Amino acid sequence: MSRKPTEHRARKRFGQNFLIDERLINHIVRSIAPKPDDNLVEIGPGKGAITAPLLEHCQKLNVIELDRDLIPVLLAQFAKYEDFKIHQADALKYDFANLITAGKPLRIVGNLPYNISTPLIFHLLSYQAQVKDMHFMLQKEVVERLAASAGEKNYGRLGIMAQYYCQVENLFEVPPESFSPAPKVDSAIVRLTPHTQLPHPVYHLNKLELLVRTAFSQRRKTLRNSLKSLGVNFDDNNFNIDLKKRAENLSLEDYVQLCNQLWPAEYAEP
Ligand code: SAM
Repeated sequence: MSRKPTEHRARKRFGQNFLIDERLINHIVRSIAPKPDDNLVEIGPGKGAITAPLLEHCQKLNVIELDRDLIPVLLAQFAKYEDFKIHQADALKYDFANLITAGKPLRIVGNLPYNISTPLIFHLLSYQAQVKDMHFMLQKEVVERLAASAGEKNYGRLGIMAQYYCQVENLFEVPPESFSPAPKVDSAIVRLTPHTQLPHPVYHLNKLELLVRTAFSQRRKTLRNSLKSLGVNFDDNNFNIDLKKRAENLSLEDYVQLCNQLWPAEYAEP
């Protein structure tokens, strides 16, 4: 027997925790500050908690939703908006370049499913040149990782790569009672604003990713030891970075400097 569109039940495997707190939803939308001619994209609209107020400000909206049972729910509510488009797809595989129209950079928003938030952020960072900003609800700990500086508890690969591309702002916390069903963890809202000009550019981005991943894979060791597997002879080189430090003590700028020394502009893959 088919259910009415409004009777959709939350599914754990899709990370469905629906927002129910009106004041909080308004706070989120005020932080996004949508303008009528924005090129807005919402990932995981669910039953439309954030979608509805977004459409009040900005009638052009693309949404990407994986759960096909939610499509009729969304259509029933928002079909009257001519420029409202639903893409039934997996955001992890979605090509966001499809949504750039008339050269307008994307503004991406979403109360993201927590189980895919880290890979999804890495996927979205690959579009940073076409993105104006991103506002996400995430597990509080993931927001802390995104915003962490060298020496802080949650500092690591996610924060370094996000800060390479973006300014990261931890905006505010959200308690479990704001959702139905309530998640077991606290949440927070983060704003990622891609830099118009990278403050610390590397010559070889794939090498920065390799360097950071290798350093943090053995985070208790000194860099001289943890980076041995890269096959670099550190004794023969005069590095500006103190290799007795550990992965967590190097800033983004330090990583970029080390990366550019190890793999200079003229480096070519053998
Ligand atoms: N935005 C709604 C709200 O705030 O009430 C729902 C948020 S809920 C935490 C996450 C939403 O993302 C769900 O609607 C879920 O079906 C959807 N979703 C889960 N995995 C997805 C994926 N890989 N791609 C796109 N949407 C996904």
